Amino acid sequence: MTSTAGALFAVVACPGCKAPWAVELRNATSTCPRCRSTVELAARKPLWEGDDARDAQAAAAQARQGDRTVSVLLQPQPRHDSPVDAAAAKGRTIINKSARAEEVARWLERLSGPMPHRQLADALVRSGIYLERAEAEITRMLAMDFLMEPKSRTYRLVA
Ligand SMILES: [Zn+2]
Repeated sequence: MTSTAGALFAVVACPGCKAPWAVELRNATSTCPRCRSTVELAARKPLWEGDDARDAQAAAAQARQGDRTVSVLLQPQPRHDSPVDAAAAKGRTIINKSARAEEVARWLERLSGPMPHRQLADALVRSGIYLERAEAEITRMLAMDFLMEPKSRTYRLVA
């Protein structure tokens, strides 16, 4: 695969109907949301690549607005070392998703204190856990008493 090492998400264009959409690069294939054809990701040259799910969605939306401007508009944003990015990076190499989620939460609290829901979910997604699973992991960590919720939608580690 010719993609940038470590990129988690990309935007590819369908070889059939030309529609661009955001994909997770850990998958071998993806299904075009418009014409339902299955695309082998290794065979597609990405229009955009990066580590942020929301950036990927934004890039796909931009790509849909006009193919000719894609290469100009879709340069990946420079990485900034926010606590969210740093915590996500700590968890990224852990294969088990639940163990990864716990490591990210541990680091996020260490780096920035109590975690608003949005911030924790964002860090989990950036560590390579898709959003639905990230939400499920937060629910699980609360249920397992790994996290507590001292204030509504804000979490701390139970230590
Ligand atoms: Zn298609």
